Amino acid sequence: MSDLLSSVSGKSEEHEFYTLFPEGYKIGRTKYVIVFGTVMSGLGKGIFSSSLATLLQMKGFKVAPVKFDGYLNVDAGTLNPYRHGEVFVLDDGLETDMDLGNYERFLNLNLNKDNYLTGGKIFSSVLASERKGEYLGRDVQFIPHVTGFIKLFLRNLAVKQNADLVFVEVGGTVGDVENGYFIEAMRQLEYEEGSENVCHIVLTYILEPSFLGEQKSKAAQLGLTSVLAKGIYPKVIACRATNPVTSKVREKISLYSNVPFENVVSVHDSTSVYSIPLLLKDQKIDELVMKILNLKSHLLDEKKSLKRWSDYVKIAQTAKKEINIGITGKYVTIRDSYASLIEAVNHASVANNLKTKIRWIDTTEIEQGKLSVKDAMQGLQGIIVPGGFGKRGTEGKIACIKYARENNLPYLGLCFGFQMALIEFARNVLHLEDAHSTEIKEGCKSKVIDILPEQKNISTLGGNMRLGAHEIEIKKGTFAYKIYGKKLRIVERFRHRYEFNPEYIEMFEKAGIIFSGKSPVAPIMQIFELKGHPFFFGIQAHPEFKSRPLDPSPVYSSFIKACKAE
Ligand code: GLN
Repeated sequence: MSDLLSSVSGKSEEHEFYTLFPEGYKIGRTKYVIVFGTVMSGLGKGIFSSSLATLLQMKGFKVAPVKFDGYLNVDAGTLNPYRHGEVFVLDDGLETDMDLGNYERFLNLNLNKDNYLTGGKIFSSVLASERKGEYLGRDVQFIPHVTGFIKLFLRNLAVKQNADLVFVEVGGTVGDVENGYFIEAMRQLEYEEGSENVCHIVLTYILEPSFLGEQKSKAAQLGLTSVLAKGIYPKVIACRATNPVTSKVREKISLYSNVPFENVVSVHDSTSVYSIPLLLKDQKIDELVMKILNLKSHLLDEKKSLKRWSDYVKIAQTAKKEINIGITGKYVTIRDSYASLIEAVNHASVANNLKTKIRWIDTTEIEQGKLSVKDAMQGLQGIIVPGGFGKRGTEGKIACIKYARENNLPYLGLCFGFQMALIEFARNVLHLEDAHSTEIKEGCKSKVIDILPEQKNISTLGGNMRLGAHEIEIKKGTFAYKIYGKKLRIVERFRHRYEFNPEYIEMFEKAGIIFSGKSPVAPIMQIFELKGHPFFFGIQAHPEFKSRPLDPSPVYSSFIKACKAE
């Protein structure tokens, strides 16, 4: 990224301005929508931004979303999903905040490193440039250099993705120390790009304490005061609330912020995240933003896109048939840790015209004898063992997999679940009693899952995984071949350090495992299936990262289909 700084002109020792433009940038060609949060975090800023961006995409505009995260991690790879929600992986291997998953799912786009910026990334670039002497003797400052970098990052995105609209989500809440420089950069951006090209939107929260039974706007007003104090003048205010926001409250918000009443909109609780675009559409927020930014619709086929979207929401809400599946997980208390997985199950359920209820199975309880496998599986039509790291609960997972294999219960193993199923098979079918993964038992006799040869020499924790999109070669005539629509090459996203040990391929194949997907460039087994079982399928990748409501993952759809057939 410091290359980005090195590549541009505009730096000077003569004046205080530091306005860097990438080659080919034209002011006014790209418009910006910037979304800030006040009052508190967790309001669903990402969902709001994705929803609004989706509506504008339906109008025919090319949108490019970007998320700013204030923390000093260079990427999200080292973040604990228990604290932070899942780590979402992009095609180019960048590990990001889970919000990027929302953008990809809503907009049906594949994003990359240009769509995600953390404090850590900014500072490592700025410091690298400083060491190269690229600041021409200047003292390097938050203003203009850090803010300059942020604006350059946005303009670079605009050019590279040829965007009509760049959607910026400023992570955190206005008033945090962490995102202060992002907010300052956005103030400057409006000045430099021109007010007609930048639309600041504030998402705020309207309290409705049960002991009062009415909506109160004071916290939102105070939040807006601090936004205004930073020189950010919003043109739209979106009020998150449990119930539709009353006119009285909207009037108050309008009065305190100089935002016209009709630009103060209600984003109240909704049954599903995918109905938020429809809620915003009802209030014509897309047209409001177009008017503010003086945009004329390219009108593709908005009605058709909107209908596809509302059809999805309708099936999700009204499907009559219901199935139950079990998902094992270390982080069973925090659903955010499995956001993409849950979404992929939902997409696949709609594709199969049904609803899926998820039962979370804490496999440590199975290990401790508090829960029997049979009881845990009672009433389930299928089971998923998703991605994971470390020892906790693994024996319980293996016990669940054994049950699924022996009882013809559909089983889907994802990444760690792919590895655990092969260990189960090694132990119980091939009688390799001490079979394990060296991640969990380094000195085991049968190292069925072992560290990837290419990762062996890397010792730091950040950045030693096989990440991002890789090709999978599909074997003709297999179940995988059928699922993936008879394609011989497909692409899925990966995030792993360990893999199936190729020394065991022959043994497994003789016993009925078919390795139906392999890496075309290395002996890495990427998909297995089991002969004679209705659905016993594992994939070393994470197909959930590529599942979209309007384009569900074929792996998940066929798994849900198999569960339905039970
Ligand atoms: N822990 C396993 C590995 O590193 C699986 C990783 C995962 O499930 N994402 O290979």
